[in-house]
Amino acid sequence: MTIGFDLDGVVCLLPFGFRQIYQRKAGEKVFWYFQYGEWLLRLYNLLFRRPNQEIQQLMRLLKNNGYKIIIVSAASEKCRREVMKWLQYHQFCFDVLHLRNSLLESVVAFKKRILKKENCCLYLEDKKEIVKKLNLFANPYKVLFYRPGKLPEVFKSLLK
Ligand SMILES: [Mg+2]
Repeated sequence: MTIGFDLDGVVCLLPFGFRQIYQRKAGEKVFWYFQYGEWLLRLYNLLFRRPNQEIQQLMRLLKNNGYKIIIVSAASEKCRREVMKWLQYHQFCFDVLHLRNSLLESVVAFKKRILKKENCCLYLEDKKEIVKKLNLFANPYKVLFYRPGKLPEVFKSLLK
């Protein structure tokens, strides 16, 4: 079984200020271009990107129990190297990192395509609007809304 996680806001925590920009609709584009510059992203990863320990633990537990773990982010494919470095540095347990190739594909279309392709059964996402849209389709997967510190009930019992 495959379980998926969003990157920004789920796997990693967004610092105040960045969160505000990111939550806005236009923020998505800002983030996309922001992550284009490798040195800028490196600086951001070093200074601001913080691992979400709750998710880190959950991923390890699921992985140890035979689940396939995927990270699906609508961030640019161009930041793969820096994001992978960051994930490895913080010892996240996962199998695949999916990033978006083009801004022409919408976030919802991209995530929907990947979740289907990966045969994902559960996906954790921090944007309510995206959760709603992804759950609109008759899918094999279910998207759960996630807020840091508020793990969905399904997983809570696992971590105890
Ligand atoms: Mg997110």
